[in-house]
Amino acid sequence: MKKHRFVIIGGGIHGCAAAWMLADAGEDVLLLEAADVASGASGGFGRRGVRGNRRDLRELPLMRAAYRLWPALSDTLGADTGYERVGGLNLIEQETTGTKGGLVAAEAHADVQSRSGVPTEVLPRDRLLELEPGLGEAVRGALYCPLDGTADHGATTAAFAAAARERGAAIEERNPVTGVEVADGRVISVTTADERRHEVGRALLVLNNAGAPDLLREHFGVTLPVWRILPQALRVVPRSVPPMRHLIGHDHRSLSLKPLPDGGVMVSGGWRGRWNTELKRGEAIDANVRGNLRTAAEVYAELADAELDLADAARPESCSADEIPVIDRVPGTANALVGTGWTGHGFAIAPAVAEALAFWARTGARPESLAPFSAARF
Ligand SMILES: Cc1cc2nc3c(=O)[nH]c(=O)nc-3n(C[C@H](O)[C@H](O)[C@H](O)COP(=O)(O)OP(=O)(O)OC[C@H]3O[C@@H](n4cnc5c(N)ncnc54)[C@H](O)[C@@H]3O)c2cc1C
Repeated sequence: MKKHRFVIIGGGIHGCAAAWMLADAGEDVLLLEAADVASGASGGFGRRGVRGNRRDLRELPLMRAAYRLWPALSDTLGADTGYERVGGLNLIEQETTGTKGGLVAAEAHADVQSRSGVPTEVLPRDRLLELEPGLGEAVRGALYCPLDGTADHGATTAAFAAAARERGAAIEERNPVTGVEVADGRVISVTTADERRHEVGRALLVLNNAGAPDLLREHFGVTLPVWRILPQALRVVPRSVPPMRHLIGHDHRSLSLKPLPDGGVMVSGGWRGRWNTELKRGEAIDANVRGNLRTAAEVYAELADAELDLADAARPESCSADEIPVIDRVPGTANALVGTGWTGHGFAIAPAVAEALAFWARTGARPESLAPFSAARF
């Protein structure tokens, strides 16, 4: 049995970024990953949005920190993250959408976002068309965030892992955590599938995303209002160059569009796959694939005859009851921290979460930016 000061469960963007932050500070780190680094929600084709636009206001302090960290990350890690500050648009078609959207709410969102460190402008249709000439006729305006962008999630996660290893972190892949030993409110050790025990010196970080709720229930007796979803992501190839240049979201439609560097477009935005019990993996549902493509074509006519070449719903994500993550001490323990419940937008803030979590794990003091994410709010 070997003792490590910090043990991390999960080799996605959150686990690998935390491993790097801790190792970079000279700490002794062991990361345990059930499959391969970036094999969960942090992997797969395409890009992830790095977006402050229409994000829950409680996450904006983290997003402000993320805006600071992202541009220098490739240089800091010594590997390309694919980060591009392409600017983000949240398209608006309706006068009013529910209680939160529509043109009627646009100035208020722009104002509060800007004051929270996410510069935002309301663009009327004529100015919007200068940025995105291919938009459909129904689009009446947009919230524009010039600091928003996209990054290559798999490459970023791999870059964090490689940089963490270079700083001395041990990363074990294909070695799931199967047991956690807790005594008097402290985690003593974790056990892995290869039947080894790994002693936990200072803290355990539970960063295994959709696997965290079960792990917390089984080994800590803690139940969080967090569950697993299977987000659908499509890759289409337009007949000509991608009709959009920005990261695109929508005020009331389930739609997210990202132009890809190879000429393809990633189409997603809230559509789901289903769990195949035999194959034990997520799979796309035909009706949802068609629905997502139809919605994309309604906003960008040029996507109507784009060729679908990939439909993926195999990357489980965790969702929470109030749509923001739980980032907290595991209730009832003194030395275990958890981050889960990212609700489909955990990638963008990951560098900032890792910075804050590493600080908390090392000093015992919770950074103010993490206060909204306590488990006690439920
Ligand atoms: C299709 C799609 C589109 C998305 N788009 C965006 C976007 O545009 N912007 C954005 O910000 N976010 C987006 N997200 C969400 C974002 O990708 C996730 O919130 C983020 O990647 C979660 O990172 P993670 O490290 O917590 O989890 P994961 O990447 O899921 O990593 C968790 C890891 O834990 C491992 N694990 C599980 N159980 C164990 C165990 N017992 N022992 C050891 N390891 C274990 C798993 O194998 C996995 O590798 C999207 C997600 C998907 C799926």
